[in-house]
Amino acid sequence: MARPCASHVQQLALTIDQDWAPDWAVRRVAELLVERKVKATWFITNECPSLAFLRQHRQLFELGIHPNFKPGSTQGATPSEVLSNCLAVVPEATSMRAHGLHMSSSLYATVMRETPIKADLTTIMPHTAGLRAALLRWGGHSLWKVPFYWEDDIEFGLEQPCWELGEHLLDDAGLAIFNFHPIHICLDTRSEAQYAAHRITPDCEPPCALGAPRGVRAIFDQLLVTLEGAGLTVSELLAQTTNT
Ligand SMILES: [Zn+2]
Repeated sequence: MARPCASHVQQLALTIDQDWAPDWAVRRVAELLVERKVKATWFITNECPSLAFLRQHRQLFELGIHPNFKPGSTQGATPSEVLSNCLAVVPEATSMRAHGLHMSSSLYATVMRETPIKADLTTIMPHTAGLRAALLRWGGHSLWKVPFYWEDDIEFGLEQPCWELGEHLLDDAGLAIFNFHPIHICLDTRSEAQYAAHRITPDCEPPCALGAPRGVRAIFDQLLVTLEGAGLTVSELLAQTTNT
């Protein structure tokens, strides 16, 4: 894969799926972003004390929802209930990503008909050049579909994951949204097996110093350095899209 060229660098942005992470993990990741003043959009699954901290940094953080439409969802018995319960936690949300990337045309219709959500980031287009938002129209409604480019758990599920940011970037002007989970940043997850071992005690906070990052944390740190004092929220990205 080509390394980025200075004149055609991809438009980088960060998103984070809360995924019922322990509160300490949400807080720790938020503090890392605040320290470097990097913007991010958080897709929230549930209420937790750190949401107040995220909302205190509105200049950096935007909150969307992370509805789980899969059978057995703890967020509600029907898609409508799942969406209204998520929006009760994040009433300001205008964007979403479905948990487990579980979506369908009827779910899109429900989102458009029943919610103020304007952008959906459920579609992954890994390492694809020229990515940009596209407008989905249906029955008098519309929704921006914003593809994302990379995800931590997909990377560590590979036989040979790569934790060098430059190796993931293209000489291209398209969008490159990197998606993370707080628990994987904090555990510096580098394989399914390592994560499985930690999952036994999900509420036990590991020490901050894990040694030199070699997994998800390594690529997160490289993005923090690259994006220091910058980054884009989903709303900002859409504002740019609709202005062009
Ligand atoms: Zn999820």
